[in-house]
Amino acid sequence: MLGFLDEVLASLKVRILGGIFLIFFLAMGMVLYGVWTYQRGKLTEMTSQQAVQVGRIIEAGLRSSMLLNDREASMKTIRNMLRGKKFLQISVLNKNGRIVMTSKPSLAGRVVNKNDEPACLVCHDHGAAKDKTSAIIDNGGNPFIRTVTAIKGEPACYRCHSEKQKVIGILLIDSSLKETTALLNELAVRIALTGIFAFLVGVFFLNFIVTRFFTRPLAALQAGFEKVGRGDFTYWVEVNCGGEILHMADAFNIMSRAIGRYVDEVRGRRNEVASHYAIVQSLSQTIEKKKLKDIVLDLLCKILRADCADFALAMEKERDAFEIVSLKKGDKRHYHTYYKMDSDTCQVGSITRDDLFGLLNERYTSPVYSDDGSRLLIPIQQKSMHFGLISIVKPEGETFTPSERKIIPVLVHHIAISFANAELYDLAITDGLTSLYTKRYFLSKINEFVENFHSTKRGFCVLILDLDHFKEVNDTYGHPVGDEVLIRVAELVRSNVRHGDIPCRYGGEEFIVLLKGDNLTAAVKIAERIRRSMENFTFDLSGTPPFKKTLSVGVACFPLHFSTADEIVAAADTALYQAKHDGRNRVKVYPSRS
Ligand code: GH3
Ligand code: MG
Ligand code: MG
Repeated sequence: MLGFLDEVLASLKVRILGGIFLIFFLAMGMVLYGVWTYQRGKLTEMTSQQAVQVGRIIEAGLRSSMLLNDREASMKTIRNMLRGKKFLQISVLNKNGRIVMTSKPSLAGRVVNKNDEPACLVCHDHGAAKDKTSAIIDNGGNPFIRTVTAIKGEPACYRCHSEKQKVIGILLIDSSLKETTALLNELAVRIALTGIFAFLVGVFFLNFIVTRFFTRPLAALQAGFEKVGRGDFTYWVEVNCGGEILHMADAFNIMSRAIGRYVDEVRGRRNEVASHYAIVQSLSQTIEKKKLKDIVLDLLCKILRADCADFALAMEKERDAFEIVSLKKGDKRHYHTYYKMDSDTCQVGSITRDDLFGLLNERYTSPVYSDDGSRLLIPIQQKSMHFGLISIVKPEGETFTPSERKIIPVLVHHIAISFANAELYDLAITDGLTSLYTKRYFLSKINEFVENFHSTKRGFCVLILDLDHFKEVNDTYGHPVGDEVLIRVAELVRSNVRHGDIPCRYGGEEFIVLLKGDNLTAAVKIAERIRRSMENFTFDLSGTPPFKKTLSVGVACFPLHFSTADEIVAAADTALYQAKHDGRNRVKVYPSRS
């Protein structure tokens, strides 16, 4: 409650109005007081003048009756004058101050000492006469005006009065101030009522003016500041008061619009940076092409809010064949399709045969939007390297927004760089002759498997394969034929392992396979499958008669046999040696006993 009161008292309107009203009130009070005192002076003066005039009339009347020495006529004059209600008493004093004639019989004969009588002291002070003919005497709260008129001696008076006597008597007239007081009271009431009315009218108009031209526009401005403070830069402050506050509101509106534009720009930049960061972060999750394809589709679907996305990648060794990876909104799985240009179907997902023709003929150099703006084809290429073609389709009725169109080149740039890096990485981990993984990749993977075992408890097996009497091929048909044999053997190995197993060329005519899972029986089964395929395979190469070759396999399992990478490889190698020793074309498990 007190807080509310403090707030009300602290408000600008209350302070301004309070200040103005106080000044107005004081000014009004002073003006009205001035008018009242002026009017009071005037009325008193008028009463006094009337009494003086009446005194003169009485003096003249008295003088004539005194000359006739007719006391009764003088008293009559006095009584006649008293008929007017205005006069309280009329007395005549002789030179000694004795009342010789009076309208109040009780006063007759009384001596008035001018130095004692309170009424006389108004004009007389220690006997010295003042230049005054009338005075207001309080008389215990019933004020009256006493008018003193000197009756001066004239030659006609010398019959009874001495010639030396300049003043032969003093006429005292006490006039009532009741009428004047009543008038003054009425005047005071009217002045007070006028003041109150003027004050109320002033309050009303001042309140109207301050509210209309000051506090209401300021409240509108304050509302604008609050809106801007809460981030609403579209709020328009509307004031219709003119003057400085209108200029202030205009300046405020211009300022809030400018801030709004600036904030939008900053937000746009921030979103751009966040998108760039998200792109880079997603793409840097892997360097392996196999995983990168899926990541790229996830990223595109998410950032471009696509309905579906398809990625066609040219197969490495088949010019007219593609691997098409598809992703649909709401489905987390990636569907991989092998597509040949001469197949019956002319479309996989959103990618058509015509799109793929365009890709083969290098028709696309930059992203291409469909006419209705709902589909986008992005060629992924880096310098001379062409990785594939991505098709993105928006949900029905939607098109790519300007901000999405703005980010697409950046996105494409990052994707192309990621694929270029993945390509380089592929080269680094792929054997140039057989396209199997290299020994370096194998070593990094086996160490990774060993490390992961601590958390996953999932083991693995290793197969080492060595061609039997391979030297003879080189010696008989030459080195190029030997290379061709190695390529075919690599294909045989690759086609006989599972998805997720890692076939590598370990060196020369030796291969090594990292098998997921520590199931020894399954590992032996795979080894046996490879061995048998090799045994049954006939090498029918150009320039040579058909011939057959065999291979020997050594098997070891982690953690069954050993618990370090080196030991497992050595164990598999020992098993291989055993297979060779036992007559070749066989599979041996460490420890091997014939
Ligand atoms: P075995 O293993 O059964 O004991 O007999 P082997 O004749 O296979 O003997 P070894 O493993 O010692 O011979 C390996 C040969 O493989 C030697 C080399 O001429 C050949 N070789 C190694 N690397 C390549 C290669 O990249 N291309 C070709 N053509 N031959 C290779
Ligand atoms: Mg060898
Ligand atoms: Mg060999």
